[in-house]
Amino acid sequence: MRFRLLAAAALAAFASTAYAAPVLAPPATPGPDVQPYVHVPAGQIAIQHLRIIDGTGAAPIEDATLLIDGARISAVLPAGSAVPPGYRTLDGTGETAMPGIVGMHNHLYYLQRPNLDAAGHFEQPLIIPQMTFSAPRLYLANGVTTMRTTGSVEPYTDLNLKREIDAGRLIGPHLDVTGPYLEGPGAFFIQAHTITSPQDAANEVAFWADQGVNSFKAYMHLTRAELGAAIKEAHRRGLKLTGHLCSVTYPEAVALGIDNLEHGFFVNTQLDPGKEPDKCPDSAGDPTIAAMTPGSPEANALIKLLVDHHVAITSTLPVFEQSVPLHAPLQARQMDVLTPQAKEAYLYSRNLVNMRAGTDRGEQETKAYRNDLGLERQFVAAGGLLIAGPDPTGNGGTIPGFADQRELELLVEAGFSPVEAIRIGTLNGATYLGLADRIGSIAAGKNADLFIVRGNPAANIKDVENVIVVFKDGVGYDSAKLLQSVRGRYGQY
Ligand SMILES: [Zn+2]
Repeated sequence: MRFRLLAAAALAAFASTAYAAPVLAPPATPGPDVQPYVHVPAGQIAIQHLRIIDGTGAAPIEDATLLIDGARISAVLPAGSAVPPGYRTLDGTGETAMPGIVGMHNHLYYLQRPNLDAAGHFEQPLIIPQMTFSAPRLYLANGVTTMRTTGSVEPYTDLNLKREIDAGRLIGPHLDVTGPYLEGPGAFFIQAHTITSPQDAANEVAFWADQGVNSFKAYMHLTRAELGAAIKEAHRRGLKLTGHLCSVTYPEAVALGIDNLEHGFFVNTQLDPGKEPDKCPDSAGDPTIAAMTPGSPEANALIKLLVDHHVAITSTLPVFEQSVPLHAPLQARQMDVLTPQAKEAYLYSRNLVNMRAGTDRGEQETKAYRNDLGLERQFVAAGGLLIAGPDPTGNGGTIPGFADQRELELLVEAGFSPVEAIRIGTLNGATYLGLADRIGSIAAGKNADLFIVRGNPAANIKDVENVIVVFKDGVGYDSAKLLQSVRGRYGQY
């Protein structure tokens, strides 16, 4: 009976139909399941003696006072300013505020390889379970206040999650829910719908736009005609479409009007030998990134094309770092959130990558990675809009939230200054989403979507890891408590 009552209550909670909502919903009051994780309730809050990295790429402001009034930032005051009456004061000595990360390639799932062994063998089908509990908490705890799901496996689940977060009933960032992967025959996971014609592609976009998704993503095995039909239908509805492409090259996708390309320059196939139109070659872009040295005529022409057509590029360095032999291992704080099985799978995969050190394959992976870093820098120098997200998939070593911080660190390793890297991870994402007037930087009138860390990421980017509190719509969430709540859960639910 108790079960039946619970079931009835749950049905009532989830009984609404299509949920079409903008990425930024009006602020909600935290409900009973969210309240335990609130560290600083919404109100009039003054944080004094705080260093502020505003997200525009400017140098930090030292010893500032940050005023938050409800869901908005009311002012950034210089050193020595008086706090207006009525504000609760907090001391930010030794701490830095930066805008909430706008994660532009952030999934809400885990990639499960059945019966994976130490040699890397696993059985089919590869399955993608939802991490609807752990992933949103991991993102928010690590400073991500807005994210795009960038390819959905259970779009209804993601839409329902967005509705519950927006209503204050569940914890998580603001969500840009991407529709299901738009994919032709050959998807590597079993849950994908297979698109069979341009009309089918347009129908799928139309259906999910009606259900309320915010964006679309094309995948590796679409034809040019299917991709073109999907882009046209998305644009007709005012929605953007990105792609992790293979069968369609970057220049072909630009010609079709795509808005954004995922994975930096790693998955372009334009120089793959024997590339047939509309077919994803087995080489999947490896020869193209190997040949495309930064500053080469091919690179210069491609970058000019992308910039001229205002196509954004998403940097997803953490997932590619995992392919480089002897890359940095996961930190203890990251291992702590994995299930025992996810830890085992990660260690098996990491070991196999490390065994390639000094081999031809290992050298190729390292060279491809270096070329991509140089191309991303060249793209930005040419005026391109570079946005960022970690892509938590691959070998299981790219963990939601932690890997968003890692992306900033890797952009600095790539040669960007820390404040430039932070801009790429915050304001640039907001700019792509058309929300730069509301999120992505710390300024009066903007959403109080920001986080506070110990230390100074402008001097040492690794300080982005020292998160104390994350504000979303002016409510400050306790990072440590959120992480504690998902210990051992990532990989399970
Ligand atoms: Zn992805």
